[in-house]
Amino acid sequence: MMTNKITDTGWNLDNSYARLPQSFFTNLNLNPVSSPKLAILNETLATSMGLDVQALRSEDGVAVFAGNRVPEGALPLAQAYAGHQFGHFNRLGDGRALLLGEHITPRGERFDIQLKGSGRTPYSRGGDGRAALGPMLREYIISEAMHALGIPTTRSLAVVTTGESIVRETELPGAILSRVAASHVRVGTFQYAAQWGTGEELRAVADYALERHYPDIKADENRYLSLLQEVIKRQAALIAKWQLVGFIHGVMNTDNMTISGETIDYGPCAFMDTYDPATVFSSIDRQGRYAYGNQPPIAGWNLARFAESMLPLLHEDQDQAVKLAQDAISDFNALYQSDWLTGIRAKLGLFGEEAQDESLVEDLLSMMQKYRADYTNTFRALTFGRHEETALFGTVEFSQWHEQWQARLGRQKESESTSKQLMRDSNPAVIPRNHRVEVALEAAVEEGDYSVLERLLDVLANPYAHTPEQAEYSTLPAETALPYRTFCGT
Ligand code: AMP
Ligand code: MG
Repeated sequence: MMTNKITDTGWNLDNSYARLPQSFFTNLNLNPVSSPKLAILNETLATSMGLDVQALRSEDGVAVFAGNRVPEGALPLAQAYAGHQFGHFNRLGDGRALLLGEHITPRGERFDIQLKGSGRTPYSRGGDGRAALGPMLREYIISEAMHALGIPTTRSLAVVTTGESIVRETELPGAILSRVAASHVRVGTFQYAAQWGTGEELRAVADYALERHYPDIKADENRYLSLLQEVIKRQAALIAKWQLVGFIHGVMNTDNMTISGETIDYGPCAFMDTYDPATVFSSIDRQGRYAYGNQPPIAGWNLARFAESMLPLLHEDQDQAVKLAQDAISDFNALYQSDWLTGIRAKLGLFGEEAQDESLVEDLLSMMQKYRADYTNTFRALTFGRHEETALFGTVEFSQWHEQWQARLGRQKESESTSKQLMRDSNPAVIPRNHRVEVALEAAVEEGDYSVLERLLDVLANPYAHTPEQAEYSTLPAETALPYRTFCGT
């Protein structure tokens, strides 16, 4: 393969994943596209990674994002993995993505650089290996919004259009997303090794994950058990954060659950407006398996699959291994509940812990559900004492609840202003509202007008700023006859 030296861009690539046993990946040739154009570049992220924005915008720079040429040090590959998709176990792999390598920043951080939509690979099955512009921009918007909300996530560095059409239900403009991730090692990577690999391969990927994401525990007596426990902890913390902002992932398959604890794969995800645990947006999730309220138990289920795949590493005696795995898994609920309670207390300005906190919170949530209150705006209204803005206002239940809440606030030693600050820092002024995202995508995809999208990104970049300009972005969509639906965009 031809390697072009692109020295001034700042790419500094290593390929530790490619040093895993060969069964974990397939080396790829590039699938160049006809006329790549930069649609959007994340200049803040690029700069923080030590990349040169001007050089990235140049023809050579864009050619890298398009998969038309590789920077020095890149070793393009597609990763092999497996996954339970809606409960069914399948052999998978990067069917439309390639890993260029790992960029090492000037600060020494290591990030996977993955091109999503880069063409067919040996794992493409029936697919064309390509992606459409709309869904790639959507991933860009939502992942950056998640990052700004303080939620661990893969990032989006750039989207390029390919100049080629892809065929779905209609013809759509093709695009490639450059995704930045702590790594792309997932629960499904372990399942793949456990199902089709040797014991050595399973050990290799576990050691790899330890080295890359959990170096502090790699010298533990039973480092694989520690790995399992730490992944469970990080996932509990992650899912709690999702629930606290009303994020619905939509495809919590085990191949879409990272070992690093980052949110990954923004397909049919969306934020909940009206509070309802049964909320589902994805058109393919007909049973509501991945509904808002199911996300914590589904995460627990996925982690049980992770634990199963690790059994041979946990203990040489199988019964002992099962016991260790079960103990680790049974911690998930308590970890999640504790993380979530900490977060929801903060959303209500509560410091310390009182026995009745849980029922105080549950009462609020059930009122929100009953009166179809907007999740984000209810907490925002409580933060600023603008109760008349909530659907709960004027009900007897709310008055009673409000009294209890005020009494609870009154019993803590922290001042009212400290408590209000905690609420401001915990309740976003804006989330990527579905109707706002749709308008931004339409302008970009249909008219090539990126100004709506750029403005939306600006507003979403500081969700806890509570500036006057953000107010218009918190309005709800007009009532429609049909519920909002999202699509995988595959
Ligand atoms: P996802 O639901 O995006 O996590 O994708 C599930 C699996 O389908 C992964 O192995 C993807 O690489 C593969 N896939 C999705 N879209 C395509 C496509 N257009 N062509 C080939 N493979 C695809
Ligand atoms: Mg995926």
